[in-house]
Amino acid sequence: MTAPALLPTPDSARFAVLDRAARGERLNAEEIESLYHLPLPDVAAVAHELRLTRRDPNTVTFLIDRNINYTNICNVGCNFCAFYRTGRQKDSYTLDYETVSAKIRELEAVNGTRILLQGGVNPALGLDYYLGLLRHVKAHHPSIRIDAFSPEEVLFMEKNFGLDLNTLLDTLIEAGLDGLPGAGGEILEDEVRAKAAPARIRSADWFRILDAAQQKGLYTISTMVIGFGETYAQRTRHLLKIRDQQDKAQAEYGGNGFSGFAMWTLQTEHTRLHGKAPGATAHEYLQQLAIARIALDNIVNIQASWPAQGFKVAQAALYYGANDLGSTMLEENVVSAAGGHGRHHATVRELIRIAVDAGFDPAIRNSRFQIIDRPDVDAVLNRADANPEAARAVGAPG
Ligand code: SF4
Repeated sequence: MTAPALLPTPDSARFAVLDRAARGERLNAEEIESLYHLPLPDVAAVAHELRLTRRDPNTVTFLIDRNINYTNICNVGCNFCAFYRTGRQKDSYTLDYETVSAKIRELEAVNGTRILLQGGVNPALGLDYYLGLLRHVKAHHPSIRIDAFSPEEVLFMEKNFGLDLNTLLDTLIEAGLDGLPGAGGEILEDEVRAKAAPARIRSADWFRILDAAQQKGLYTISTMVIGFGETYAQRTRHLLKIRDQQDKAQAEYGGNGFSGFAMWTLQTEHTRLHGKAPGATAHEYLQQLAIARIALDNIVNIQASWPAQGFKVAQAALYYGANDLGSTMLEENVVSAAGGHGRHHATVRELIRIAVDAGFDPAIRNSRFQIIDRPDVDAVLNRADANPEAARAVGAPG
């Protein structure tokens, strides 16, 4: 008598879709959705195999950067946001240019190369504030790349400053803008967005703005946040919309599509969604990451998220399709305001150790995912010490 099979055998029809993905074939919506119902180890194995073929199989990259949130005043009021304040609240702020400069000097001191400049939608700010900020950073910190403003902030500028999108982007680029990070992607399905944030930018505008940025040669990245209670079908459509945009950008804009894909889980502490949205477990996070690697066959760089999931899950993610550890984030205020995983910045040393202990060679990259340095791992981790484990403890000064 043979024992009953607990799981379908790998050659069953349900697994045929994984075989096709492993051969590099593109999956359709129905096939991608079916991946959510397969055992995670099987999906992860294919995702990791694809990761090994699409990027240097030995290397895990990361960026040294800093998020600078120039204002926390915002009139969009997303239900999932614990960062924003109204202009009347005592702890609301808008940074002056010198304060921004002081933060960048701290980044320069650790050989950082990029700032993410993002804020709330602050109705008190005029175009001159934004342009002055970009010009100030470029003038005083010429080696620092400025990836700035979410599509939400760009939409606000379009509406308030009477400029069409083309002219607005040209004006921002002339002032020093290098890239437009694709923040605020969450789930690019308006049914989900309307519940989580009624006044939030809708998906068509998100893509319209990113498309224009890609057309102008700006750096962009695609994003996803899970845990709003979205369905597998909605997650699948989110991925397919990103894949379609990437196809378009690669065909029409000289290959200037999304440089990567970053995905994390919803954090709801101190927000109106607390107790109302299901959030996502580590298993769901890793499953979604692996499915993204398989579905997004035209995006080579997939990031692991340590701010939302912690260092340990981020390390595991390197075997679920991720080839990159994101960035050190010398400062982060938005995810951390809503909880996160207790750590909102990482040292270079910590990210090096995570990569090395997972079996990869760490490399420092720029925001375009080009490698700019390969650190001396033995020196950084003090491997010659008598007690290497203690010397390598995460949390030690990096
Ligand atoms: S997520 Fe952004 S747009 Fe929404 S309330 Fe927070 S700061 Fe404003």
